[in-house]
Amino acid sequence: MVILVINAGSSSVKFTVFDMADQKKVLALGLIERIGIEGTTMKYSNFRGEEVKGEVPVKNPQDAVKLIAERLLDSKVGVLKSLAEVKAIGHRIVQGMEKIIQPILLDEKAKNIVRECGVLAPLHNPHNLMGIEACEAVFSGVPNVGVFDTAFHSTMPPKAYLYGLPYKYYEKDHIRRYGFHGTSHGFVARAAAALAGQPVESLKIITAHLGNGASIAAVKDGICQDTSMGLTPLEGVIMGTRCGDVDTTAVLYIMKQEGLTPDQADNLLNKQSGVLGLAGIGSSDLRDVEAKADQGDKLCAQALEVYAYRVKKYIGAYMAVLGGLDILVFTAGVGENSITMRAAILKGLEGLGLKLDPAKNAVRSPEPRVISTDDSPIKIHVIPTNEELAIAEATVKLVA
Ligand code: AMP
Repeated sequence: MVILVINAGSSSVKFTVFDMADQKKVLALGLIERIGIEGTTMKYSNFRGEEVKGEVPVKNPQDAVKLIAERLLDSKVGVLKSLAEVKAIGHRIVQGMEKIIQPILLDEKAKNIVRECGVLAPLHNPHNLMGIEACEAVFSGVPNVGVFDTAFHSTMPPKAYLYGLPYKYYEKDHIRRYGFHGTSHGFVARAAAALAGQPVESLKIITAHLGNGASIAAVKDGICQDTSMGLTPLEGVIMGTRCGDVDTTAVLYIMKQEGLTPDQADNLLNKQSGVLGLAGIGSSDLRDVEAKADQGDKLCAQALEVYAYRVKKYIGAYMAVLGGLDILVFTAGVGENSITMRAAILKGLEGLGLKLDPAKNAVRSPEPRVISTDDSPIKIHVIPTNEELAIAEATVKLVA
């Protein structure tokens, strides 16, 4: 069964085509960037190792999906004989609020709900919808399935999702914590259980998705109990350009002092803060900050300390939430690749039962692996995330 996975953002469309019947093989994947801006480019590659890169005349998501279809059918680099081979399309959708808490077939009613949920994700849901509508036009008759970032966290109890704000704002405006990266947290929690050879339903797991965006989740028996992101993906740990947890009064103070509008404050918190804002070297990439810290840059070293400390605090908090821990999982760009950041986060946690094996931690590999010592009471795993595959699997499950 061939499944196309689409992740339509504000100016990009990412796609992956899987043959789920042939060991979930990736037939083709790619990315169209800078849609609607000058210099739109497409990267495409297929399972034969052939690649096409270059500027493309793409003005909107519909042009983008049309071009993806053309490439998939291309006589040289294509992987399909007919678009009818695509049996379903899985879409990453950011916000489902309390209205959609599992993968759903995107009929008119479901699309209207996605539209409604856009009030809390104005930078994401409208673009996700445009991707869906483009697929309806180009892949006519093929079912579209929505897989929501928030869905995995919908099991959080009110004590975890309510803010200490007047309750009427929850009732009236749906202001609560929703959490994001849910597809990734669910995927790596299941993969960690598989690596441990135990059912996920019997385990207490903390998943640390540390990428450009970052969040931590506490998962008991396969069910999410709490997660660090909130109403939007701003809350929680320090991220590439997002501040994470901050006293709201600090924001109000800065707004008053600098005369910032709400949109300017939003930009400050989401785009200019986090590692970028703390390190002050014009990069949010942890590789750059680690390199500068190694050369003696004090602000970079301090930014890394703040980053590690915040993650450490969440691990401690979530061990308390779960009443213990069996597996800690690191995933995403930083979690999978930064040997020094993993070590910094875990430093001093031996007493809690988290014993890192430095030699295993230093191994670079794309495979799921254990990096704790053999006698560590709590296992520490590195599990590469694969949100596209998780979306494809959820799509197959629904349409089958
Ligand atoms: P993601 O959002 O999961 O794609 O993660 C992207 C981020 O991962 C980059 O911005 C980097 O900060 C980080 N990253 C990727 N590779 C490394 C590495 N080898 N060492 C440290 N950080 C890395």
